[in-house]
Amino acid sequence: MSDSSKSSATQPSEHSGRQSRQEKPPLVWSNLIFFITITILGLVAAPIWGILVGFSGWAWAFLFIFWTLNGLTITIGYHRLWSHRTFKARWPLRLVLALLGTQALQNSILVWAARHRVHHRHVDDTERDPHSIRTGFWHAHMGWMLRDWPTSEIDFDQVKDLQRDPIVMWQHRHYWALTWLTNLGVPVVLGLLLGDLIGMVLLAGAARLVISQHLTFFINSLAHTWGRRNYSDDNTARDNGLIALLTWGEGYHNFHHAFQADYRNGVRWWHFDPAKWCIATASLLGMAYDLKRTPRFKIQRARLQTQFRRLEQRLAQAEVEPTWREVFEREYQQFKDTVVQWQAVQTERVQAGAGALRDRWRRIEFRTRYRELEYRLKMQARRLSMLNRAMSTSAA
Ligand SMILES: [Zn+2]
Ligand SMILES: [Zn+2]
Repeated sequence: MSDSSKSSATQPSEHSGRQSRQEKPPLVWSNLIFFITITILGLVAAPIWGILVGFSGWAWAFLFIFWTLNGLTITIGYHRLWSHRTFKARWPLRLVLALLGTQALQNSILVWAARHRVHHRHVDDTERDPHSIRTGFWHAHMGWMLRDWPTSEIDFDQVKDLQRDPIVMWQHRHYWALTWLTNLGVPVVLGLLLGDLIGMVLLAGAARLVISQHLTFFINSLAHTWGRRNYSDDNTARDNGLIALLTWGEGYHNFHHAFQADYRNGVRWWHFDPAKWCIATASLLGMAYDLKRTPRFKIQRARLQTQFRRLEQRLAQAEVEPTWREVFEREYQQFKDTVVQWQAVQTERVQAGAGALRDRWRRIEFRTRYRELEYRLKMQARRLSMLNRAMSTSAA
């Protein structure tokens, strides 16, 4: 989900038309030199300095502070606020997210969101997705930034809405100045003030940047490779709790590709998703509003549809007891009935209008009907899991 880091990537490429993957496009030297330099500084020079001289406690503290702020502002701001508009934010919060987001060095909000929206629209398409996993793990991770691939061209038509946000445009115009300021200026000033100039620049500057960038890059590579596809198997995005731990909640990537308008990625209350907790807190403080949530029924429906599809494939492949096929057919019919009933309640609610929802009794009545239908799907999901286990046991 991240983006390139050098100015050349912000310019539209001169390529026209699509290019075969066999004949590799030219290298983007500015990006290549940057990544080599920062990797040497962060992963070679910083550890050597740490062993020979050592770092101050302040340098360690700011490594973690900046790493946390980079991860959270990219996730909350660049991704969930600007790319997907899953909530609205008041200007002070937008300003903080834009300013702190520059330190992650993943290009301006405008460029990042333009590419990310294309990734969602054309996910896995090797001709359109900027970092399609089908072009290979390395390409999805960072190879896409190192060459002038036609798929890396920036389509600013994707972000016309963001061009009306003065904070987004201000950050876009002053991006490189802000980047130098936050990545070099701030560590230098802190280092001078706290008496550990080189330690601060190497650890809180370079090493922090390498770690924070690669963890974000994992969302394009690892989160499209490793994990479960709970909500849709139409694309390669996966749910993975471990990746969520490392990426401030972005590891529930299968859910995210299925419901990109939702401000949460980890939809269950126990899913590790600090970004969703921060957005909810910002909403309590009045800084965020209009938080979008997918109705619980739709989420359960997607999960069940995936379960049904998998079971159907198993039933088609294996020699199974005829009773299981009957059970499957019966369950599927029940599922379709429940969906029809839910749609009927939805229509009724819309027809009843906002006035009816102000009436407490009517509101509770609708809520009860929704809960009943959700409960039916929940029980059905359990039965399907049992059926799946029974089939596995019998196959073994
Ligand atoms: Zn996204
Ligand atoms: Zn993705």
